[in-house]
Amino acid sequence: MPLSPFNIPKAHHFIGGVWQRGSDVLEMTDPSNTQHLTTIARGTADDIDAAVKAAQGALDGEWGRMTALERGRILTKIGNKVLEHVDALAELEARDVGKPLGQARADAVALARYMEFYGGAADKVHGETIPYQEGYTVYTLREPHGVTGHIIPWNYPMQILGRSVGAALTMGNACVLKPAEEACLTALAFAAIAAEAGLPAGALNLVTGLGAEAGAALSSHPGVQHMSFTGSVRTGELIQAAASKNVIPVTLELGGKSPQLVFDDADIDRALPFLVNAGIQNAGQTCSASSRILVQRGVYQDVVDRMSAAYRALKVGPAMDNLQLGPLISARQKKIVTGFIEKGADLNLVAQGEIVTDAQGHYVAPTLFADVPADHPLAREEIFGPIQVIIPFDDEADALRIANGTDFGLVASVWTKDGARQMRLAKALKSGQVFINNYGAGGGVELPFGGVNKSGHGREKGFEALYGFSALKTVAAWHG
Ligand code: NAD
Repeated sequence: MPLSPFNIPKAHHFIGGVWQRGSDVLEMTDPSNTQHLTTIARGTADDIDAAVKAAQGALDGEWGRMTALERGRILTKIGNKVLEHVDALAELEARDVGKPLGQARADAVALARYMEFYGGAADKVHGETIPYQEGYTVYTLREPHGVTGHIIPWNYPMQILGRSVGAALTMGNACVLKPAEEACLTALAFAAIAAEAGLPAGALNLVTGLGAEAGAALSSHPGVQHMSFTGSVRTGELIQAAASKNVIPVTLELGGKSPQLVFDDADIDRALPFLVNAGIQNAGQTCSASSRILVQRGVYQDVVDRMSAAYRALKVGPAMDNLQLGPLISARQKKIVTGFIEKGADLNLVAQGEIVTDAQGHYVAPTLFADVPADHPLAREEIFGPIQVIIPFDDEADALRIANGTDFGLVASVWTKDGARQMRLAKALKSGQVFINNYGAGGGVELPFGGVNKSGHGREKGFEALYGFSALKTVAAWHG
């Protein structure tokens, strides 16, 4: 497929402001029909090295000399250009990821919003003055780390690059981005858009390729001063180990097993769409997917019945048909997810959605299990597919024990009208985010986001990301 209207040559990296042909290639397929989509470059350690040098060159040149206001204006321009291309970006993403067109479009709009938010924030991040001993003036400066490495997954390429690269550029870092081998076309398009909007050469460099090759080379490169990684726990461990060799900070956004706690006094009418959508959005391939629904016994059967009815109405088909669910990203992912459904053979499967296409894509019907024991693998392990389990609980203590009973801690949500219980659980839940009577709060770019425990550490989004993508310098001047 031509990468129009972005004029991206096939099988090229974007290094130092120019397209550079890769020495080897990878073939990309459309998950909706497994047909050939395009060819991308298979990056090597040499390509990563060239990208890191180009980034360093940008820091030593025009990009490094820009004021925060100038950087912010460029980000704002990039956001405006993204908005001009929302439909083309959405189609590219739908074909690359298999994401229903409407959801892909929302991701493109979110990418523009990240640029708008960070563009406006660029000149509003500042240090502090600190009262100190007589004769001293003490203040802090927030400076860029230098070259930042960004390794992102395939499930939300536009949103994740927006929050990560957007924040790093805002603070004056120069970025090397390694998008996922399964889906990197909108990242390539973004590089083209950013250059057109006036981002100086070398401020953003993009090398496509495999994790074990280009990804590993980036995370271990001694010229990188900060690593931002979003992906699996297993790869996160490797990235952290590599970063520790170079003694650089690392932000890890990893997986989750995020629960929603539904109490007897909850507004079930309001909760229902959140309970279901948080599990099936992007066919469940979402780090913050809510794969565990914990329900108090008084409303248990009602919630099971209503979620089951919702599941039976779900339709799965090609991304361009814009149904509720598209295919999974790959045959590998489909195998993993169907393996989990098989692991649930002993469980109470209460409802499934319907695959409504004959196309040969990686389709899996959304599947709902009820009465699932809290220690069952389906209730503990991240699935990354359209499967939700419903678990009954007796009281608040029981709900909290189950909710906190996995290795993860990304998102939790509480459905109750009891204000005191809301506050107690907001404190007691082990989670980077707690939502009360909603799930995700619309995903606003203003909201800091990240995990605890195996869900990772560090925060992206909001102003917290800008602090993370900068180094604090303390200046103490003695003037007598
Ligand atoms: P993955 O870890 O295999 O791949 C993610 C990225 O890491 C890709 O770009 C890949 O090329 C790269 N990579 C793989 N091996 C590498 C290595 N040895 N060194 C350096 N880079 C390497 O993850 P995946 O299976 O593709 O993605 C799904 C996972 O990502 C899920 O576990 C999900 O929960 C997580 N995720 C988390 C968030 C979040 O914000 N917390 C968002 C999206 C996805």
